[in-house]
Order: sequence, then structure tokens, then C-alpha cells
Amino acid sequence: MATTIEQRYIDMHPGSAERHTKAKEIFPDGVTHDGRRLSPFPIYATHGMGPHKWDVDGNRIIDYWTGHGSLILGHSHPDVVAAVREQVGIGTHLSASSDLEIRWGQLVQELIPSAEKLRFHSSGTEATLMALRMARAYTGKSKVIKFEEHFHGWHDYVAAGGGGLGGIPKETLSTMIVLPSNDISVVEKTLQENDDVAAIIVEPTGAHMGLNAIRPSFLNELRELTERREVVLIFDEVVTGFRISKGGAQAHYGVTPDMTTMAKILGGGLPGGAVAGKAEIINMIEATDDPEYNQWRRVGHNGTFNANPLSAVAGITALELVATTPVNETANARASRLKAGLNDLLTKMEIPGCSSGVASLVFLRLGADHECDKEVCVLSDEQMRITNDPERNGQLNLALLNNGVHATTRFILSAAHEEQDIDETVEAIGRSLTEVRSLGLV
Ligand code: PMP
Repeated sequence: MATTIEQRYIDMHPGSAERHTKAKEIFPDGVTHDGRRLSPFPIYATHGMGPHKWDVDGNRIIDYWTGHGSLILGHSHPDVVAAVREQVGIGTHLSASSDLEIRWGQLVQELIPSAEKLRFHSSGTEATLMALRMARAYTGKSKVIKFEEHFHGWHDYVAAGGGGLGGIPKETLSTMIVLPSNDISVVEKTLQENDDVAAIIVEPTGAHMGLNAIRPSFLNELRELTERREVVLIFDEVVTGFRISKGGAQAHYGVTPDMTTMAKILGGGLPGGAVAGKAEIINMIEATDDPEYNQWRRVGHNGTFNANPLSAVAGITALELVATTPVNETANARASRLKAGLNDLLTKMEIPGCSSGVASLVFLRLGADHECDKEVCVLSDEQMRITNDPERNGQLNLALLNNGVHATTRFILSAAHEEQDIDETVEAIGRSLTEVRSLGLV
């Protein structure tokens, strides 16, 4: 039996239901990204503008998925649209080097403190794959430490510790060490017992963009430890790059890693990724006069769409706006307004929990009574289990869509969200929580 929330969702989204029936005959689970699975069916969108998007049933939605975090300027920013329109008419792929890639690369160098040199890719997954490869080539070591729940894309190495491991050779998984975050003594002990660790990779605000938050002091501790032990420290800034600050989490926290992976905002809403870092590590790609070195030590790197002109112009436009206008400040201010509104709402409705998060990333943590600074909120495993309750959060997601908001318990803000959008969102969340409460779930 459908709940009242599910029934309303079904009634409001007949066009999406119909398309999902077709899509299930084409795609596994009927979707093209595991994260877009939604029961009873996901929404099908037609277009977006600024902070809003519309579904096939004509519902206007305030969007907090914001292109999986890539659209800090909101949907279809006019400058990005103009740049892409112009470029599409004069060449989307010239099979040659270009001024565009130079400008795009310079912007990354200017903004990201660790970026002495870099290479472009087409996605974050490619960037972390290359980062691990370079770190292994540079150190001549094979193991990599990652942290529980930290997401770095879907390639075989970084999948370690998660689900969906089918098809990955156990030899591959055995090169990965998965540790709990926030406890430097565990990392130190692991390095003492293992002299074959090439690198440590970390999401610098914590797993799932910061849902399982990292204490900033842990980043400092990792930096000190990896420097002492000569292990390459990789910040995966695919989400946090150009978002937590113009220079990413590393500039915000003042901790410079050896390598940085980027994507999302980097491509201005088009596919793009990059791995940047110390010149001597990134230069593992460079060919030398030594055939033996070129065969066995050098890291080969191709990729048809690396630094393609369309992604480059979108990326340049976005990064120039980030560099020269208050994009981050605006998105952060909207995030603060959302957090304040949600925390008031929780107090008024007497729901235990908080809304917290760094910069323009906002999380709603329901059910667990706790104290935090509303920015970096580190919960115990038991508290995380309560806040992640799939039944309650699943109903809340559907209720939010019924009330015109696309979010999970995570909200990724853009500079296009206006104060009015935030106020509407808080109201919509209030209505949604009341509906979830009527099911006895909060
Ligand atoms: N790293 C992090 C921290 C991510 O959040 C993601 C994607 N959400 C990736 C890597 C993978 O990026 P992509 O989806 O572009 O392959």
C-alpha cells in the first residue's frame, strides 16, 4: 500500500511514471546513475534556469542537486550559455592543442594552491584514477589508504570499502586499505605496519561531500604525518574545489596536499576533470630520453575529450566568474540562511537534529540529539545510523519533491539561489516534515 506521500507523488508525476516504465526496458533500474534511483520512480526533467528546474509534468522545482554539485552558477548561466554557443559553431574538437586549454589550466593554477602542474580529464572518476596511478609511479609503492564511506568515483581501486564490488579482482582490492576517518593514530599505526603505502586520498570535508564530517584538525594531522612518512597526500576536491572557497577546501583550511583531483565546477556544467599537484609528481606523465623509463616508470595518458573546447570554454567562464565575482560568498550566504531557517524549524517542531555544513554544502541531520557548531558536525556511528534512517529519509525525499524541492537530506547551494528561494524551501521542508510526521516517522 502506498503511503499518503507516495500516492501524492504518483498523482503529481504521471509523465515521469510513464517514462520510467519505458526506461526500465533500456537501462538497469531504469536509470543512468545509481544515485538517481528513486522508489517508486525518479522524476524526468526537461529544463533548468537559475536555481530552478522543471519536470515533464510541468512541476517547477527548486534544485539542490545543482548538477550533482557542478552548477555553482545555477542552471544555464547566461555567460556560460553564450560561451558554449559561440564555441559549438567553430569547433567542438580540433584534435589539437589550443589557447583555451592554456587559459583553463592557468585558472586552475591561479586558484588551487597545490596546482603547480595539471592534466585535464573528462570526469572526477578519471581524475582519481590518474592521481592514484601517478602517486604509485612516483613512489614506486602500491598501496593506497582511503577512508570509510569516502567517495572518489566508480573505478576499481576507489570502490574498495563500498558496495557494488562485483567484477573487481581481489588482487586490486587488496592494494587498498580502508580506515575510519578522524583518528590519526589509526593512520599512523597503519603506516608503521606497512612500508608499501604510496598515497592517502581523502574527501577534505568528509565522506559524501561532508555528510560524515571530517574535523579540520584531521587534515592538518594527515599533512604532518604524510610529510614525515613520505606518503603522497591527495585531496579529492571534485566537489569541494572552487566551492568551499575559490581555492577549494585546501585554501579554506590552509592545508596544501601534494595532489588534488577536481571535476564538477571545473567544467562549468560540462564534463571535465583534472589532476593537479606537485610538478615532480604530475610530470610522471612526461616522456624522457630513456626508453627503459618511458616503458616502465612513465605514466601514459590519453583521452579523446581531455580539455575539449566546449568544456574548456564553459570551465573558463565559470572559473573566471568564481575568481572575480562573489560567487562563493553569495552561495555561502544562501546556505547560511537555509541552515538558520532549518534549525529554527527543527526547534519549533521539536525535532531532534541539526542543519549544518561548510560553505555552500548543507545537511539536514534528523533524529539525533547533539551539540555542534552548525558547520562541522561530527556524529557517532550510532547517531549517523539514526540520521540516515532510509525509511524516513525516503519519504522525506518524495514529500520534498511533492512540495517543489529536489534534495535528499543534502542541499548543494548555488549563487543563483535567491533569498526568496531559500524562504520557500524552508516552508516546503516544514510542510514535508509535517507530512512525514503524520506517518509516524519523525
Ligand atoms: N570524487 C568525489 C568526492 C565525488 O563526489 C565524485 C562524484 N560525485 C567523484 C569523485 C566522481 O566524479 P565523476 O562523477 O565526475 O566521475
